[in-house]
Amino acid sequence: MRVLVTGGAGYIGSHTARKLAVGGHNVVVYDNLSAGHRGAVGKLPLVVGDLSDGEKLTATLKEYNIEAVIHFAAFALVGESVTNPAKYYQNNVLGTLSLLDAMRAADVTRIVFSSTCATYGIPASSPIDESFPQAPVNPYGFTKLAIEHALQDYAHAYGMAFAALRYFNAAGASADGDIGEDHTPESHLIPLVLQVALGQRKSISIFGNDYPTSDGTCIRDYIHVDDLADAHLAAMQQITPDHCLKLNLGTGQGVSVQEIIQASRDVTGKDIPAEIGPRREGDPPALVANADKAHKILNWQPKYMDVRETIETAWRWHHSHPHGFAQ
Ligand code: UDP
Repeated sequence: MRVLVTGGAGYIGSHTARKLAVGGHNVVVYDNLSAGHRGAVGKLPLVVGDLSDGEKLTATLKEYNIEAVIHFAAFALVGESVTNPAKYYQNNVLGTLSLLDAMRAADVTRIVFSSTCATYGIPASSPIDESFPQAPVNPYGFTKLAIEHALQDYAHAYGMAFAALRYFNAAGASADGDIGEDHTPESHLIPLVLQVALGQRKSISIFGNDYPTSDGTCIRDYIHVDDLADAHLAAMQQITPDHCLKLNLGTGQGVSVQEIIQASRDVTGKDIPAEIGPRREGDPPALVANADKAHKILNWQPKYMDVRETIETAWRWHHSHPHGFAQ
């Protein structure tokens, strides 16, 4: 298929764009490079543009005869969404509505959307399946939920076909170590821990060890970025206006912050000093996916089920690119 990947210069977008190309699809990346990296796009065609630029979007969709859109371009920092919600509502909500308008203008009906487990807020229990109530606890989660609703309504009224994929914690890097995670500022656990292993930071701060979990630290479900990419390809090919999908994407395995740090020590062979800090506001104790529905419907299984292997791929990337794409 001919596919436009918005945010294709970003972390999950670049891995998915690559997989699409390897799978024989024609890929065009659309990214404003505010957080993405030209180096992550490789040789794929890149249109530098903003979601708010509806004319450019429409022209791009028409010029490349696009058949499906995979939409990653969004801001995704929970804390920043609390202090600067306007940025999130403007880009994640208005920007996506602008994209949907452009798709209608260009007669493109298929979209795979990056949603998030943050739409579940603080769930009553884990693992979380798709029937759990969606009750976000921060603006980021609300912007993603708003678009899930818009997609539902657009599918009903305009015959759009969509998949809303609710990711848990994306992690790892491409197996060949060519592309990986590069955020400025970095706030995610695994890259921060690996920065300590590289000697770029003195220690990692554990955000609370008094949670009601086995070792007192928060539990998350770390899903490899290439497994996420595979699920996008499968969803894109399957959806029709009568068969829209809302699916969790995770491994179904919970891993604590302490376990991530220990696994990273094992993988890197470095000490990785850690200290206990205060809790981070808004962190649920445990977020683990029940992804049975995605397994069945997409005929998809994560290949990386051992978090050590996921961390190994991340380490390969960080070790060979200590300054990310900048070098
Ligand atoms: N975390 C931590 N120290 C850090 C960064 C993160 O203890 O320096 C914890 C965080 O509280 C959460 C887990 O690691 O429980 C994963 O956080 P991350 O920001 O990577 O992803 P999130 O779960 O917020 O999407």
